[in-house]
Amino acid sequence: MLKNEDKCNLKLENQLYIKPEYLIHPFISGNKYRKLKYNFLEAKTLGKTILLTFGGAYSNHISAVAAAGKEFGFRTIGVIRGEELKNTSLNPTLRFAQSCGMTLKFVTREAYKNKSDSAFISELQKEFGAFYLIPEGGTNTLAVKGCEEILTKADAKFDFICCPVGTGGTISGLINSALSHQKIIGFPALKGDFLQEEITKFAKNKNWELITDYHFGGYAKISDELIAFMNQFKCKHTIPLDPVYTGKMMFGIYNLIDKGYFPKQSKILAIHTGGLQGVEGMNQKLKQQNRPLIV
Ligand SMILES: *Cc1c(COP(=O)(O)O)cnc(C)c1O
Repeated sequence: MLKNEDKCNLKLENQLYIKPEYLIHPFISGNKYRKLKYNFLEAKTLGKTILLTFGGAYSNHISAVAAAGKEFGFRTIGVIRGEELKNTSLNPTLRFAQSCGMTLKFVTREAYKNKSDSAFISELQKEFGAFYLIPEGGTNTLAVKGCEEILTKADAKFDFICCPVGTGGTISGLINSALSHQKIIGFPALKGDFLQEEITKFAKNKNWELITDYHFGGYAKISDELIAFMNQFKCKHTIPLDPVYTGKMMFGIYNLIDKGYFPKQSKILAIHTGGLQGVEGMNQKLKQQNRPLIV
């Protein structure tokens, strides 16, 4: 798809580097670009012209599918959780998706739970025609294949590779392409222990660990301490972080460094998976709550 997928790592601290995947594309950000790449190629091969996927109202995945559909010539349908949103003004994520030409279909939270059921899918097919289906969050075998391309030969010197975790596709790709001396550390952005199993489905090696202490109370939950950390980080390194994934991961990495988790001579690579489109929507919510904003 793009010619320049590989970006140079940037040094943050003595031991710590960051891979700025968020710079791959302005709208098909970071790991979502990696996850969509082979799915889009497959859809083209199959002769499909319509892509359908699922997501929440602030989803980075919805935003990326909409942008990629526009760029690569597919009609896109986003099935969005929350029927009540139909009658409110669209948040920045959904407004962007719609501006890319995505058709938004709002469904109740109940109906949304059936998103993998064949009866629900055939209803959608009757409504929209024969589409290529990308699951919620975009994780499938082709997505993992794309994420296997995040690490390159130049990353061989790192001992630890850190990434945020949502549905587990990205970390699975990293696990599969890591070298035998490397350990992959995942920072789940949400509570719950379904992830271990999900990752085992796709990951071929055992050199990984999930650190579950940095979800900040759950998916898209954020504390004022985390906001202050993200703002300081951006000020110092001129690298923006997103509130749902990369902010929590970086907070966790610095905390683990302080606690002596990483051996002194080891080198750590943090994967900046993108997600910056989420900042505007989060700030809207923070403003309503009279809380400090993400700069
Ligand atoms: C979606 C997303 C993730 C989670 O990726 P998974 O493959 O679902 O684990 C991490 N970081 C960002 C910025 C994302 O948008």
